[in-house]
Amino acid sequence: MPARVYDNILQTIGNTPLVRLNRVVADLPCKVYAKVETTNPGNSIKDRMALKMLEVAEKEGKIKPGGTIIEGTSGNTGMGLALAAIVKGYKCIFATTDKQSKEKVDILKAHGAEVIVCPTNVEPEDPRSYYQVARRLQTEIPNSWYVNQYDNLANRLAHYEQTGPEIWEQTEGKVTHLVVAAGTGGTIVGTGKYLKEKNPNIQVWAIDTYGSLLKKWFETGELDMGEVHPYISEGFGEDFLPENYDRNAIDHFEKVTDKDGAVMARRITKEEGIFIGYSAGSVIAGLRQLKDRLKKDDVVVVIFHDHGSRYIGKVYNDEWMLDRGWLEVDTVRDLINGLG
Ligand code: PMP
Repeated sequence: MPARVYDNILQTIGNTPLVRLNRVVADLPCKVYAKVETTNPGNSIKDRMALKMLEVAEKEGKIKPGGTIIEGTSGNTGMGLALAAIVKGYKCIFATTDKQSKEKVDILKAHGAEVIVCPTNVEPEDPRSYYQVARRLQTEIPNSWYVNQYDNLANRLAHYEQTGPEIWEQTEGKVTHLVVAAGTGGTIVGTGKYLKEKNPNIQVWAIDTYGSLLKKWFETGELDMGEVHPYISEGFGEDFLPENYDRNAIDHFEKVTDKDGAVMARRITKEEGIFIGYSAGSVIAGLRQLKDRLKKDDVVVVIFHDHGSRYIGKVYNDEWMLDRGWLEVDTVRDLINGLG
């Protein structure tokens, strides 16, 4: 077959571009490249691990033809699973939280998935939480498979097998730093482990958010629920420790505020022309907080996990930003556009 002709959409997952960032990092001493994962068919990096987890489950006999895929997902993993389910002939049921944007839920439904929206501000052990709803569905539905991206190690394996090698090849082995927003831990641990095996000097920095216990866990080994409170950032940070974590793959955790992530996401879109989601803003905001650690010859790779289209009702909505006091209104035109 000629290049770039495929048998189905799943074959287009991966081999994403590495794009140099220019303006939003202009004052940093080194080169910064973004691994732009929005070009995956589901518009996020999670297509990679969704397909990998399904392939491993099929191999291990955990799901049979015509079965039902069940997952607690904030959207991106669900999207990847929904695509894989369509091509491979499975049903999907997703439990998600009321914090997620309506667009994300509607996109999943458009791909034939059933979506159950659960409350955000309940403990993970609460029967109403999306973790518990997903677990319960598995016991009730015959021939169903609960994916559990948090503890399913095929998640990090996807990044060890794909994302890591792609970055190594695209930078011709010159990468010195990897910066990744951390949620389930799959992306940072899988990619970080591969790169550190290639060159143990590569620094792997995780971006966390206020309200998540990951940074404190990394620094103290403790799971301190005192760190946990609701937050606005989407897609990363956790209130428990997923099994995909391996502290040996990570060197540092940096927290970024909800505001700084949102403001930077808008800047990346406006100044680089790369329309990305919330966590991409947080990654660049976090990298900028660490700029004193960088030197001239460093080659930084950041991951841009997902596409901005999923945030048009939030980060890319001026009123939403104004309501939180996050939009600088310093000209009359901004005022008219923002408040009008
Ligand atoms: N950013 C976004 C937008 C995500 O959807 C996710 C996955 N929840 C992450 C960052 C974090 O990636 P991971 O779960 O692999 O740690």
